[in-house]
Amino acid sequence: MGVTGYTLGGGFGWFARKYGWAANAVRAVEIVDASGRPQRVTADSDPDLFWALRGGGGDFAIVTGLEFELFALPRLYGGRMMWPADRTREVFDLFTEITTRAPAELSVWLQRYQIPGAAPTVAIDFAYLGDPAEGRHLTRRLDTIDGIMADTRGELSPAEIGRITAEPTDPSPSLSRGELLTDLGDAVVKTLIDAPVAPLLNVQIRGLGGALAQDRPDGGARAALTEPYALYLLGLGLPDLLVAIGDRFEEIIGALGASITGAKPYTFLAPGESAAAAFDSDTLVRLQEIKRNRDPHNVIRANFPVLG
Ligand SMILES: Cc1cc2nc3c(=O)[nH]c(=O)nc-3n(C[C@H](O)[C@H](O)[C@H](O)COP(=O)(O)OP(=O)(O)OC[C@H]3O[C@@H](n4cnc5c(N)ncnc54)[C@H](O)[C@@H]3O)c2cc1C
Repeated sequence: MGVTGYTLGGGFGWFARKYGWAANAVRAVEIVDASGRPQRVTADSDPDLFWALRGGGGDFAIVTGLEFELFALPRLYGGRMMWPADRTREVFDLFTEITTRAPAELSVWLQRYQIPGAAPTVAIDFAYLGDPAEGRHLTRRLDTIDGIMADTRGELSPAEIGRITAEPTDPSPSLSRGELLTDLGDAVVKTLIDAPVAPLLNVQIRGLGGALAQDRPDGGARAALTEPYALYLLGLGLPDLLVAIGDRFEEIIGALGASITGAKPYTFLAPGESAAAAFDSDTLVRLQEIKRNRDPHNVIRANFPVLG
């Protein structure tokens, strides 16, 4: 995916628990505004627009350049450990234990896969921003789970971070649904851990917290993300699967009950959803005012417009 859409929507990845949203690290944005004028926007030149561009989505300007603060990262360690699906409960229990205690340098995701024609699997993906020996130590209990099928743990350069999940880089049709989880209690275990993944392809739970849970009044249009976990559901977007996948999303959302809030990160919004789900009401109102002021004729159209 592109850096610009990711960053305009906030953007959270392997560095977020330590350094916050990608949008927090933006220092200047080069834009063409709704009247066609090029500008360089900073905290000093235009605080309102600068705030909106860092997390409020693509509604406010055409972005032609982003300037980021850089962070030193001398060592990076991570990878994927994968087991057959019959180990899912054990993997989930250790995922819970590790994410509950993890320092901000450690980010851990649990992934369940059901690739058509292959046996179902469960995986732990993680990145540790520091000494490999310490990263290995923090995740050492995973070595006690028998039957490992793949283990790609190793030292990485920042440019190799995509190797952790090894997601395809070519476009592929998919349907997704993102949510924020308030807990990993009984409803989550029953619905996301014990139930089969099919007809979906992937059920992913990410440990959040760290810098994402801290308020950053100077960080842009992103409030703190207080939910401890994020959920991402993915299905293959093939015509004969669309109905079954959509139905399964709804079943899962219904069964999760109070374990989800209905709020979600802007970059996890899916077709049919609204930007209102990604912001608290004060933030949404301020974004809407800025949109009306800066683009009264709605020349610029985001994929998830703040005006609904
Ligand atoms: C496989 C996969 C993994 C993902 N993982 C994560 C993740 O870990 N964390 C996360 O936060 N998100 C993640 N996402 C979501 C991703 O951040 C969003 O889909 C994002 O919108 C992608 O931006 P894009 O520029 O590639 O897409 P586009 O479809 O090109 O853009 C999306 C929107 O961004 C705006 N936009 C893009 N470029 C510009 C521009 N130059 N000027 C103004 N507006 C612009 C527009 O509103 C546009 O509709 C993932 C998506 C995929 C497909």
